[in-house]
Amino acid sequence: MYFWQGLFLYLAPGGLLLAAALASLQHDGLAQWLFGITWLLPPALGLVAVFLGWRFNRSRLLFGVLVVLLADLLLRRYGGVAQIDQLLARYVFHMGLLALPLNLLLFSFWRERGIVTGQGLRRFAFILFQPLLLAALFGVRGPLIVRQLEGMTVHLPLVGSLPAPALVVCALAGLVLLVRFRRNSDLLEHGFFWAMLCSLLALLAANPARQAFLFSLAGLILIVSAIEAAHRMAFRDELTTLPARRALNEALLKLGNTYTVAMVDIDFFKKFNDRYGHDVGDQVLAMVATLLGRVGGGGRPFRYGGEEFTILFPGKELKEAQPHLEALREAVAEAGFKVRSAGRAGKSSDNRQKGGGSAKKVSLTISIGMAQRDTTRKTPQAVIKAADQALYRAKEGGRNRVAD
Ligand code: GH3
Ligand code: MG
Ligand code: MG
Repeated sequence: MYFWQGLFLYLAPGGLLLAAALASLQHDGLAQWLFGITWLLPPALGLVAVFLGWRFNRSRLLFGVLVVLLADLLLRRYGGVAQIDQLLARYVFHMGLLALPLNLLLFSFWRERGIVTGQGLRRFAFILFQPLLLAALFGVRGPLIVRQLEGMTVHLPLVGSLPAPALVVCALAGLVLLVRFRRNSDLLEHGFFWAMLCSLLALLAANPARQAFLFSLAGLILIVSAIEAAHRMAFRDELTTLPARRALNEALLKLGNTYTVAMVDIDFFKKFNDRYGHDVGDQVLAMVATLLGRVGGGGRPFRYGGEEFTILFPGKELKEAQPHLEALREAVAEAGFKVRSAGRAGKSSDNRQKGGGSAKKVSLTISIGMAQRDTTRKTPQAVIKAADQALYRAKEGGRNRVAD
C-alpha cells in the first residue's frame, strides 16, 4: 500500500501525462492529430502560464514554461536537419542540451519572489539574456565549440549519440531533481523533473512535429503540476502532510451506511509547547501524524485541527476498527518523543529523532474516542460528535486509552 502510494506520488501528474502522451504517439491517427495542433499549443500554454503565474503568484511556473517554449522557438527557427546552416543547427541543439536542464534545475531552487518585482524582472532578464549570450558565443567560437562537443560523443543504447558534457549535466540535473522531489512535497518541483525529461526527449526527437509537441507537453506538465500543487495546498495540511479538514468534509460525504470514526487527541500537548517551544510542538505533531498514517484496518487519517486528528474507517464496524486503534495508541506510547537538551530544542529539524548523545526521551501518549454509524447516529456529524464524547471519556478515564 505504501509502495503504491509512494509510486503514485512520484509519477503524478507529470509522469502519467508523459506516459499517456508517449502512448498516444504510438497511434498513427492520434499522433497526426496531435502534430496538427502543435502550432496552437505554444501560444495557448504561454497564455495559461502567464495567467496562472500571475493569479497564483507562481513565477517559477512562468519561468519554466518560458524556457521550454523559448527552446522550442529557437529550435524551430534555427535547428533541425533541414536548415541551411548545419553548424548553427547543431550548435542550437548542443546548447539546448546543456541550458535546458540547468535552467529547470535552477528554477527548482529559486524561492518564490514574484513576477513584477525587482527580483522577478532580474530573473526574466537572466532567462532572455541567455540566447543573446549563446548567439554571441557562436559568433566568436561557434565552430570550435561544436567540434569540441562532437569530439566527446558517447553512444547510448536507447537515447542515441550525445556529447559527454550534456550527458553529465542531464544526468546530474535529473538526479538532483529526483532527490529534491523525494524530500519536498511541492508538486511543482515534481513537475520540473518530468518537464526536464520531456524536453530532453523533445531535443532528441528526429521528427520536427514530434519535437514541437514534446516541448509543449513539457510546458503542459508544469502547468498541470502547478494546478495540482494549488489543489494540494487547499486539501493537505502543510505541517503534517495529512489531508486537512476540507478533505475530511469531502470524505464524509462519500461514506456509506457502515463506518467508524475515531477522534484522536494528544495528551498534555500544551506541555510540549510550554516546556520545549512551539517548534518542538510542531515536530511532535508531525511525528504523531506519521504514526497515524500507518494505522491499519483501512483507516484514513486527517488533521482535524490543532493537536486533534480524525480517522475514518469506511465500511468498518467499531469492533473491527478497535484493535487497530489500540495498536496505534501503543505505537505512539512506545515511540515517545526524543528532545534534544532544552536549550537547543527545535533549532534544527534534522536532529529531532536522531537520538544523539544529548537527546532524552519524553513520554508521549494519545487518547482516542470512537463511534460507529448506527440507527441513532445517522449523519457523519452525529457520529463525529459521539466520537468526541467518547474522547472526553478517554481523557477523564486517565488518558492514553481508547474509549467508545
Ligand atoms: P489534554 O490532554 O487534555 O488534551 O491536554 P492538552 O494540553 O493536549 O490540551 P489543550 O487543548 O489544552 O492544548 C492544546 C494545545 O495545542 C494548545 C495549542 O497552543 C496547541 N496547538 C494547537 N495547534 C498547534 C500547532 O499547530 N502547533 C503547535 N506547536 N501547537 C499547537
Ligand atoms: Mg485538544
Ligand atoms: Mg490534547
